[in-house]
Amino acid sequence: MNTLTLAHYYTVPEVQAMADYVGDSLELSLIAQRERADRIVFAGVQFMAETAKMLNPHAQVILPDQGATCSLVTQTDIDALKQWRERHADCVHVSYINSSAEHKTVSDWVVTSRNVDDIIAALYAQGKKVIFSPDRNMGAYLNYQYGYDMPVWNAVCEVHDKFKHEQINRMIEQANAKGTAYLLAHPESPLPVLLHADMVGSTKQMLDWVKNFEGDPDSTTLFIATEEGLLHNMRQLRPELNLRQAPIYTGCQCNACPYMKRNTVDLVVRAQQGKGFVIDYLDDETIEKARAPIERMLNFSKKRSAKNAA
Ligand code: SF4
Repeated sequence: MNTLTLAHYYTVPEVQAMADYVGDSLELSLIAQRERADRIVFAGVQFMAETAKMLNPHAQVILPDQGATCSLVTQTDIDALKQWRERHADCVHVSYINSSAEHKTVSDWVVTSRNVDDIIAALYAQGKKVIFSPDRNMGAYLNYQYGYDMPVWNAVCEVHDKFKHEQINRMIEQANAKGTAYLLAHPESPLPVLLHADMVGSTKQMLDWVKNFEGDPDSTTLFIATEEGLLHNMRQLRPELNLRQAPIYTGCQCNACPYMKRNTVDLVVRAQQGKGFVIDYLDDETIEKARAPIERMLNFSKKRSAKNAA
């Protein structure tokens, strides 16, 4: 059996080293679609493995540990979400990809942190009314940044929501006394953190920013407000830079996703042997309904890339 092993940036370095590809969730699902493996081991969390299954319905998709969920999923009661969606029947429902398969079945668009700005801007340009779920922080940032008035669902990433701008500002002030400090933040972080950031972007956008950073490495400190696993990838790209995890409270510079870290080396090895949590519970109707808003996003992104290249 042809097995493909995929690992998210937030898994531990030892698991990343076992993978055929390392990337963010959508990137990995698209790689899986391109490679057409018989078995996909997804070292990530459940919604990512579900997305991989939707895009690759003929493959056996295995999540190494069944407990690898996500707070954005567990904080979203699906019945309540459906009622909320019905109360806003005149709106387009845009959902962040960090959501369950069932959540996606009641969504018009699925977005990632890379394309959310462009897709929502395009909907507003068409005169549409929009509701956004499930990430409260990302929705608050979009509303603030662009002056939207989108109703936003109330769930958070428990990892990014821990960042506190008071602690971060204190460390930035200390670092600025010795040189120049920058803050890079993922949009799942709280709004006050995002408002103080020099760069707000997706996992991949943060990696690219660090890769292309042209400042003086000796006098610069880069604080990174995201899951700590990404620091490993940043340090591989730019070992000479002073990269530091943004603090979550005084003295603490660590912030790990407990769900991503459930992907241990042993469990990934077992999954490669076909043992683990097989994503075999999505029926054809769910796959079809949940895939439609994802494909809408993929077509949008393809058209946008073609337009930018022209
Ligand atoms: S880092 Fe946050 S959004 Fe990502 S899987 Fe963990 S809890 Fe979910």
